[in-house]
Amino acid sequence: MQPLRGTKDILPNDIVLWQHIYNKAKEILTLSNYSEIRTPILESTSLFSRSIGNETDIINKEMYSFIDQGKRQITLRPEGTASVVRSLISNRLYQKSKTNRLWYLGPMFRYERPQQGRQRQFHQLGIECIGSINPMADAEVIRLATQLLHELQCFNYKIEINSIGNLQERNVYKESLIEYLLSYKEDLDNDSETRLATNPLRILDSKNKKTQEILKYAPSLNKYLGSESKTHFDSVCQYLNELDIEYNINDQLVRGLDYYNYTAFEMKVDELGSQDTICGGGRYDCLIKQLGGPDTPAVGWAIGIERLLSIIKDNLQIQTKHPVIYIATQGVEAQRKIWNIIKTLERYRINFELDLYNNNLQKQIKRAYKSNASICLILGDDEISKQEITLKYLNKNMQKRIFTTDLSKELDAILSTH
Ligand code: ATP
Ligand code: MG
Repeated sequence: MQPLRGTKDILPNDIVLWQHIYNKAKEILTLSNYSEIRTPILESTSLFSRSIGNETDIINKEMYSFIDQGKRQITLRPEGTASVVRSLISNRLYQKSKTNRLWYLGPMFRYERPQQGRQRQFHQLGIECIGSINPMADAEVIRLATQLLHELQCFNYKIEINSIGNLQERNVYKESLIEYLLSYKEDLDNDSETRLATNPLRILDSKNKKTQEILKYAPSLNKYLGSESKTHFDSVCQYLNELDIEYNINDQLVRGLDYYNYTAFEMKVDELGSQDTICGGGRYDCLIKQLGGPDTPAVGWAIGIERLLSIIKDNLQIQTKHPVIYIATQGVEAQRKIWNIIKTLERYRINFELDLYNNNLQKQIKRAYKSNASICLILGDDEISKQEITLKYLNKNMQKRIFTTDLSKELDAILSTH
C-alpha cells in the first residue's frame, strides 16, 4: 500500500518539527493578539469559485471537488483565507469585535503535478488581520511573517512587494497590457497566450524565459495606480523602512488569487529552486463583502510549511524525547503492582516506557538499553516480597534497591539530573 500521489505521511521523527512550528506560531502570534481558528477542510465548491476567481489555476484545474451523497458540490479547501472569511461571516465574528486577528495551520489540497516543494496535500500556516484599512495592518502582518521566520531560524529570504491597486485601476491597466501583448502573441508561451483572453495579469507571473523577455517592455502596473493606492503603498513601504525590513519592489508581482487589492507580497528563498516562494499574501478589501458579509477590509498571508521545513530542518535542533525510565516486570504479582509505580512516574512527569513482552529479564534489559532510557526499573517477585524496587542505571553500570516508599525521593534526585 502506498499513500496517494502527492500526499505524504509525517512520521514521528518529523512530527517534533511540526509541533515546534505550531508552538512557535502560537507563541509569537498570541503576543500580537492573534487567535487560532480551525475551519472545516470540506466547504461548498461555490465558496472557492466565488472568491478565488474562475480564471485562476486553482479553480480551473487544481480543485479536489466531488459530489456528496446529498448531491452537494464539495471541495477540499485549496487555501485558508476563503474558509476563514466564510467562518467570519457564518459566525458574525465582525459583530463581536471590530478587528479580528486570526491564524490557522492545516492541510490544503490542490491537484497539481507533484514535484519537489509541490504536493497535492500540503500545509499552510496563515494569518488574517480583518477589519482595518490602515497600512499599519499591512506592516503588522509582514512584520509577523519575518518575526516568525526568524524565530524558526530562517533568515535567507527576500521580500518582494507590489501594489496591484484596485479593480478599476487593474481593469484599465489590463486593456493596455493586452494591447501590448497582442503584438507579441505568436511569441508567447501557450499558457500565456490562453491567459491573454482569460486572466492577462497572470501573464506577468509567467516563468517562461521568452515571455519574461517580452514583459520587460510591457506597460507597468504602477503607472495606472490612483492616488489612494499609491499613498497606501508608500505608507506600507515607509513602515517597513522604519522596521528595518528589507524588501524589493517588484512591479510585476501579481498573486494567483483574484481577491487581492493594493498590497501583494511574496517571500522567496534561494535554496529551493523553482518552488522558491515560501510565503504569499496581500490585502483583500472586497472579499468579505463579495461573500455576503459587511464591507470589511483585511490583509493576510500564508506560509507553505513543507517548503519552510525543507530549509529550516537542518538548523533546528530539536531533541526527540526518549523514555527516562524503562519498566521491566516479572511475575503476575509485579504486573499487578506496577500500575501504582506508573502513577507516581506520571505525577512526576517522567517519561517512561512499560515493557509489554514480559519475557526474561535479560531480554527486557536489552530493550531498555535500546530505548535509550537512563534507568531500568525492575519489579520482580523478590522485590515484591521485600516491598522494594530495583533501579538499574544503564549508563553507569550500577544498580541499587530502594524501598517502594522511597521512590518519590529517588525521583526527585533523578529529575534534578535530567
Ligand atoms: P506557487 O506559485 O509556488 O504555486 P502559489 O502562488 O500557488 O505558489 P499561494 O496560493 O500563495 O501559492 O500559497 C502560499 C504558499 O503555500 C506558497 O508560497 C507555497 O509555499 C505554499 N504552496 C502552495 N501550493 C503548494 C503545493 N502544491 N505544495 C506545497 N506548498 C504549496
Ligand atoms: Mg500554485
